[in-house]
Amino acid sequence: MSPLPSHARVVVIGAGIAGCSVAYHLTKLGWRDVVLLERRDISCGATWHAAGLVGQLRATANLTLLAKYGADLYERLEAETGQATGFRRPGSIGLARTAERMHELKRLASRARCFGVDVEVITPAEAGRRWPLIRTDDVVGALWLPRDGRTNPIDTTLALARGARQRGATILENTAVTGLRLRGGAIAGVSTTAGDIACEAVVNCGGIWARELGALAGAAVPLHASEHFYIVTEPIPGVSPDLPVLRDPDGFIYVREEVGGLLMGGFEPMAKPWGMTGIPADFAFSLLPEDWDHFQVLMEQAIHRIPAIEAAPVRRHVNGPESFTPDGRYLLGETPECRGFYVAAGFNSIGIASGAGAGKALAEWIVGGEPSMDLWDVDIRRVAPFQTNPRYLYDRTVEMVGKAYAMHWPFDQPATSRGVRASVLHDRLAARGACFGVVMGWERANWYATPGMAPAYRYSYGRQNWFECSAEEHRAVREAVGLFDQSSFAKLRLEGPDAAGVLQRLCANDVAVPVGRVVYTQMLNQRAGIECDLTVTRIADDTYFIVTGAAVATHDTDWIRRHLGDARVVLTDVTSGSAVLGVMGPRSRALLARLTDADLSNGAFPFLASREIWLGAARVRACRITYVGELGWELYVPTELASGVYDALVAAGADLGLRHAGYHAMDSLRIEKAYRSWGHDLGSEDTPLEAGLGFAVRLDKRVPFLGRDALMAQREKPLRRRLVIFTLEDPAPLLYHDEPIWRDGVLVGRITSGAYGHTVGRAIGLGYVAHPDGVTDGFVESGRWELEIACERQRARAQLSPPYDPKSLRVRS
Ligand SMILES: Cc1cc2nc3c(=O)[nH]c(=O)nc-3n(C[C@H](O)[C@H](O)[C@H](O)COP(=O)(O)OP(=O)(O)OC[C@H]3O[C@@H](n4cnc5c(N)ncnc54)[C@H](O)[C@@H]3O)c2cc1C
Repeated sequence: MSPLPSHARVVVIGAGIAGCSVAYHLTKLGWRDVVLLERRDISCGATWHAAGLVGQLRATANLTLLAKYGADLYERLEAETGQATGFRRPGSIGLARTAERMHELKRLASRARCFGVDVEVITPAEAGRRWPLIRTDDVVGALWLPRDGRTNPIDTTLALARGARQRGATILENTAVTGLRLRGGAIAGVSTTAGDIACEAVVNCGGIWARELGALAGAAVPLHASEHFYIVTEPIPGVSPDLPVLRDPDGFIYVREEVGGLLMGGFEPMAKPWGMTGIPADFAFSLLPEDWDHFQVLMEQAIHRIPAIEAAPVRRHVNGPESFTPDGRYLLGETPECRGFYVAAGFNSIGIASGAGAGKALAEWIVGGEPSMDLWDVDIRRVAPFQTNPRYLYDRTVEMVGKAYAMHWPFDQPATSRGVRASVLHDRLAARGACFGVVMGWERANWYATPGMAPAYRYSYGRQNWFECSAEEHRAVREAVGLFDQSSFAKLRLEGPDAAGVLQRLCANDVAVPVGRVVYTQMLNQRAGIECDLTVTRIADDTYFIVTGAAVATHDTDWIRRHLGDARVVLTDVTSGSAVLGVMGPRSRALLARLTDADLSNGAFPFLASREIWLGAARVRACRITYVGELGWELYVPTELASGVYDALVAAGADLGLRHAGYHAMDSLRIEKAYRSWGHDLGSEDTPLEAGLGFAVRLDKRVPFLGRDALMAQREKPLRRRLVIFTLEDPAPLLYHDEPIWRDGVLVGRITSGAYGHTVGRAIGLGYVAHPDGVTDGFVESGRWELEIACERQRARAQLSPPYDPKSLRVRS
């Protein structure tokens, strides 16, 4: 064994597939001074007992790109390293037992087309021909993915480790990390059972141990282990290595060939979290006890689908722990709590399929200092510290395992770990019939049940039970006045003599405005990609109030904090200090006027003004701004005064047609105005010019802001990519996201967010369209446009201005 080096550029903790992949890719990028530490042996954690399925179609285009990269890498690693991986591409079949599941598979097929994954919708008979042992009499249809693969997890991990070693990495087994050394909020080194290593960066690839390792750096790494099962049978006649991988999600199971027999595992609806009292120190190449009672639900379904499995003796029963996260997505990136501390963990049973790509993306992040692509879906900055609470994680894990194969309904909400974080108005809204969804732990009213109706979702891909409720809320906002509880907004206060200077450098818009003015702005990265989309209000010469979405609270705070440098400012999270009430609609002025003496006229209180006013018995900050495209105010009310203000508003609004409105209505309202949503329509790969947000950029302001040079360069050339607004011609179909966009029969883009526009009476989608010669106005206004929904193309109208109130007359009324 090599001696422990005293210094390394980067130390990777954990030699499972994730750690080996990170080390491999760091060395590929030319970093030689890489040390990979493993407490026992390579692959001894979750990796050695994985089933080895390597599916390619993932939730987003970039995650799919990474999964495809992984399959390609596993295919060629043997030639590069001399270590076989066992990778093959037998393809995979996904079955549907219900019409709704078939619809979901067809939507997936459409999505696969825009992600560049080969896919075919096949009949039950065709599925039976490819997998002769299955019964198909209850199958509605299937998907065939010819390029999906399987691999040997141990060999694949060894190949990555060998590749890393061949390019200079040091891999030390039987060396456990026992502590992290920090200096000034950044990594300075690690302590191990064999001594200390000074280093600039640490990568936590600790699998089910990653949460505890994160705690050593004060970093939130919310994941929990769960028991996870499969069996392997003795050989079964008719089973050959060429059999595709089979997934029957309605029966919770997957199946593949293994030495002439079948390997069958699955994702049962109620899982068994594990490791609550800590993970035993000697846990290596270990399994948990068999639990046939728990496995029964999978066994029954397997026998139903493949009758031959019933008589086949079981050779191995595998019960191994795997880590699951609260939202079912893995955790990647530099933690906001500790500079130089990176994470690649929490793989939710797709670590083999995702390990290569995650390792590549993280290595690029470490070497480049920022992600090389939009990785928001898995970015560790989407979590909040409270989520590492063991009780919260335990309860959520019971549910999350089964979510992998459950229907992926639009607007699906978790049933567990609810009620953790709520607005002070929560109970009042519940009494009004609110049905809550959850974002970053916040319970938020998504819609309000009408009298006699239960405030509970009935999911479907069609119009769900709340469609009409939300439509009425939408209409009330357009025609009268709506009340939104927007307390989950993240609120930050930046204060100090350099506050204006810092924000001028960070914001693409000009924030050197008079006190009392709200500025809508983006914060850009060097490539001019949009990192934050928020409002900045100057509340004093040296103080700004920054408001952003609940989902991006950690991310945006981190972005601002890491760019403060040595500026004389203090950044404080003041989210809990105030509730936010959105009073929106043409009668909002009349409503507020009943509770305040403040002059709310256009002259005295114009659009984008912000003032402290007396409202009812409270002093509130009123900001004239809107995300729904109407006259309206956001009221920031000290938390302890919010119930009183709410009660006063509700009482005063009764005869004005005031209606409570939820986040679904907000979404349908904002999409008619084509207001963009970060994380969907905006992200780190989209520039404001491409996104149609040039109006919020001040290239001519005196301070050179981050991303300005890249924007200036982009301005010189025709835009090859542009956000376009689509309205379906047929009023029936619904848009969600990732529907392919066709122009004159050519695939030119995909929808990034969609919702039903109740005022225009049709589904509306925003999406980027690309063309090598530039996406000109003429290009958008001509051509035959279609959106593909569940494999069927629907005619659509394309435009660059919003379908509703394009001149924003109502906002400024
Ligand atoms: C039954 C089952 C079936 C599965 N099937 C599939 C599948 O078909 N396809 C798929 O893609 N995925 C599958 N998975 C998931 C896959 O196994 C995991 O996602 C993946 O192996 C996780 O890899 P990792 O590197 O993150 O974690 P691990 O492999 O657990 O590696 C973490 C490593 O960190 C080490 N470590 C921890 N603490 C320290 C410390 N303090 N110092 C040094 N080292 C430390 C551990 O010893 C361990 O080796 C399956 C999982 C299970 C349980």
